[in-house]
Amino acid sequence: MLSVGRSYLSHLECSACGAAWPADELQTLCRRCGKVLLARYDLEAARGALDRESFERRQQGMWRWQELLPVRDEANVVALGEGGTPLLRARRLEERLGAREVWIKEEGLNPTGSFKARGISAAVSRAKELGVTSVAVPSAGNAAAALAAYAARAGLQAWLYMPRDTPEAMLNECRAYGAHIRLVDGLIDDAGRLMREEKAGRDWFDVSTLREPYRAEGKKTMGYEVAQQLGWRLPGVVVYPTGGGTGIVGMAKAFDEMEALGWTGPERPRFVSVQAEGCAPIVKAFESGSRTAERWQNAATIAPGIRVPAAIADYLVLDAVRATGGTAVAVSDAEILAAMSELARLEGIFAAPEGAAAYAGYKKLLAKGALDPAESAVVFNTGSGLKTHELAARLTP
Ligand SMILES: *Cc1c(COP(=O)(O)O)cnc(C)c1O
Ligand SMILES: [Zn+2]
Repeated sequence: MLSVGRSYLSHLECSACGAAWPADELQTLCRRCGKVLLARYDLEAARGALDRESFERRQQGMWRWQELLPVRDEANVVALGEGGTPLLRARRLEERLGAREVWIKEEGLNPTGSFKARGISAAVSRAKELGVTSVAVPSAGNAAAALAAYAARAGLQAWLYMPRDTPEAMLNECRAYGAHIRLVDGLIDDAGRLMREEKAGRDWFDVSTLREPYRAEGKKTMGYEVAQQLGWRLPGVVVYPTGGGTGIVGMAKAFDEMEALGWTGPERPRFVSVQAEGCAPIVKAFESGSRTAERWQNAATIAPGIRVPAAIADYLVLDAVRATGGTAVAVSDAEILAAMSELARLEGIFAAPEGAAAYAGYKKLLAKGALDPAESAVVFNTGSGLKTHELAARLTP
């Protein structure tokens, strides 16, 4: 199907203590310090062997980057057509905002309707390669739907733990794929606690956000794609609706890898992390100068994917935002709904509330003078509005 080269994956490295771990056995968190592991590649060898133009001639999609993804044998790739999403120039929004160059990365077109498909495709492929037969995850809905689909395609059992108020479309989708579903009174971190309790003594592999190293690898392909779609020029800012922060961690890694490969230079897009006013632990930590975030109490927002009160990779997200001279901003549910309406009416994009939050955050920072309208911006719409279509009834022109 792909017939491209081998993976340059070399080992896993702890993002906190630097310990190295073998990549060809199952790993979750660092066994020395309990922090997040990142996949490392032999980029020096890859630099001599891979030229960026050759990738443009390959089949569209995430797996065109196979040498820079963790799967050794392409027979283990579990794919449903993830990645290769359009980067849409938003000329009507530019006009409205007085901004020079605004792009929407339209991740709603992924299988299962969100960009979770990228990370889950990578994680399930690698788990299958390493002999896993059952996978489990706590999720606000989209990761569960993606895991249910990719597990079905790989012939794995999926155990999903979700808040009871997860949108119906996501729950129905999970049911259709035949996954085992547990609804939890509480939020995604409560669901995670219950999952880890019930997992004890069973052979489930935990694919929670950034507790296993390969979901971030799938999501990093968004960084490769954006660079390629802009002709290997990186945007001024990347605006990202932040829950667990996998996309920021992954894209920061992609920009570093591309520089090491000689594909791009030392420039970096400034990361803008957008959260909801009702759940903004990263924004609060950013503003207070802290390197880690406190758990957010009574988290509430209409955007389930960013209703994440505590993120294990908080330090990586905050480091990436600060290292790039970026910023963090919170938006209200009313601003999210207004942004959904604007994206739909002006650009024909029925965005997920999380993607609308990103656009609302971008707009807010422009209005405050905290972002320069002359700077090119890529705003991530991370999912399809169809998964929370009931919100459409609340939109007003
Ligand atoms: C999960 C999710 C997010 C947050 O993604 P992270 O990379 O975990 O921060 C944003 N939008 C949607 C639609 C999601 O499902
Ligand atoms: Zn460690």
